[in-house]
Amino acid sequence: MALLKIFFLCFFSLFLLGCSSSTTLSKTEAWVAQNDRVKVLSTTAMIDDVVGQIGKERIDHIPLITGEIDPHSYELVKGDDEKLSLATIIFYNGLGLEHGASLRYQIEHHPNAIGVGNIILERQPELILHSDKEIDPHIWMDISLWSRIIGPIVEALSQADPDGKEFYQANGEQLLEKMLREHRNIYEDLQNIPKEKRFLVTSHDAFNYFTRAYLAFSEETAREHWQSRCDAPEGLAPDGQLSASDIQKIVDHLIKYQIQTVFPESNVSRDSLKKVVHACAQKGLKVTISNDALYGDAMGPLNGAADTYLKMIRHDANVLIEAWK
Ligand SMILES: [Zn+2]
Repeated sequence: MALLKIFFLCFFSLFLLGCSSSTTLSKTEAWVAQNDRVKVLSTTAMIDDVVGQIGKERIDHIPLITGEIDPHSYELVKGDDEKLSLATIIFYNGLGLEHGASLRYQIEHHPNAIGVGNIILERQPELILHSDKEIDPHIWMDISLWSRIIGPIVEALSQADPDGKEFYQANGEQLLEKMLREHRNIYEDLQNIPKEKRFLVTSHDAFNYFTRAYLAFSEETAREHWQSRCDAPEGLAPDGQLSASDIQKIVDHLIKYQIQTVFPESNVSRDSLKKVVHACAQKGLKVTISNDALYGDAMGPLNGAADTYLKMIRHDANVLIEAWK
């Protein structure tokens, strides 16, 4: 029986592996193939996921930054030039996210590069957060805010492929509904947790939008008093550079709000959190690092629990619900 089980598991794993590599292969093949489809390159997988649900079979789309790589400091690697040169449209996050010099240069010099976050900033600057006077680029961490990129994507695809205008619009409307539904569900699930527990400490400052949207209670959001609900040893871009005062600030925060668990992020080194936990231990305070990492700057691997944008945010919510229950 056990042997049969192992055989079945092996077979199933190989089947999944086959599916995932053929999906990747067919996407890459489609990308380099000459055809009439609009070729859309998105810097992050979170943008590419939305683009794919709007453009579906009418477009070829791939993300530039895949896997658990930091998008803040991403520099071009072998093969990226070809992807960039074939792209009819490049969607990038903007708001200062992609600040690696080689990628930034390409974005600035592409005839059709669209910064989805920059458009939100232009249209509704009041929705964009700042941290120490710097713009916070992590807008995907609030689904309702991220849903605002649908409009600019539908517009750009329709302009590049006017025959598909109605198709893109209909898909965009459907996706908007789906995203807002999940936004409400996650809000309700997290608001059910007692408010004295809803204090989030992560590796870097990526969860401000998430906290404002899901962890704060309405009065706090209205009065802009939600900031104390999230903190991180590293700033808006993870850099691993921690001063003694950075650590002290977080330790004080943990003591003040009686926080016992801190959360690592999938693509950020745990060193900073370990230093914080060590500093806490020296003061006799027991703080642990959660075994489950959150997805902040990158989605999870293919066929995993966070391999789409909505599954990524749902995963984060579930990790917190489980830890705080
Ligand atoms: Zn980040």
